[in-house]
Amino acid sequence: MNTIKIEDKEFEILLENENIAKRTRLIGIQINVDYESKCPIFIGVLNGSFLFMADLVKEITLPCEMAFIRVSSYKDTQSTGEIKEVFGLPADLKDRDIILVEDIVDTGFTLGYILKEVYKQQPASVKVCSLLLKPEALKAPIEELEYVGFEVANEFVVGYGLDYNGLGRNLNHIYKAKTVTAPLP
Ligand code: 5GP
Repeated sequence: MNTIKIEDKEFEILLENENIAKRTRLIGIQINVDYESKCPIFIGVLNGSFLFMADLVKEITLPCEMAFIRVSSYKDTQSTGEIKEVFGLPADLKDRDIILVEDIVDTGFTLGYILKEVYKQQPASVKVCSLLLKPEALKAPIEELEYVGFEVANEFVVGYGLDYNGLGRNLNHIYKAKTVTAPLP
């Protein structure tokens, strides 16, 4: 099905699962080469990365470890800023080679915060593997962003782990929100 509806919103297909799988295989091969004779730890950022993480690590032939973290954000009532908190970060990351696995990097704020927390533990290296990147939305370049599946336009996407109001994470393909075209006068 090329068009789907989730609640009030219509979506059209952007990336087919077969295409995602091919790209994931290539990234896996690249990581196998880059981390030869190392034992990286993959850290998936929940919820959105769960399918990508599962498919990616199946392509990894290196000895490796896995963990998942969750980032919550809430408004600070004292200031106008948004506070983020990272849950589940392993405490033994010193001297480890870390690969953070993200579903999508939009403004890059979430990733920036996670990186800051990870570096506190003095790891040997940190790289980021994100399935999607919205280059136009990115506020500042992220040096650690080494592996990117696909660059997408600044549109809302859903499926393959990504949700709309909690729905759609189970979709096999990735869809983008349909742009509403104004009726002709
Ligand atoms: P950032 O902090 O980079 O602006 O946002 C990253 C997070 O926002 C992602 O991990 C994801 O949860 C959410 N996000 C950003 N863009 C999209 C999108 O197009 N679709 C969905 N479903 N989530 C998005």
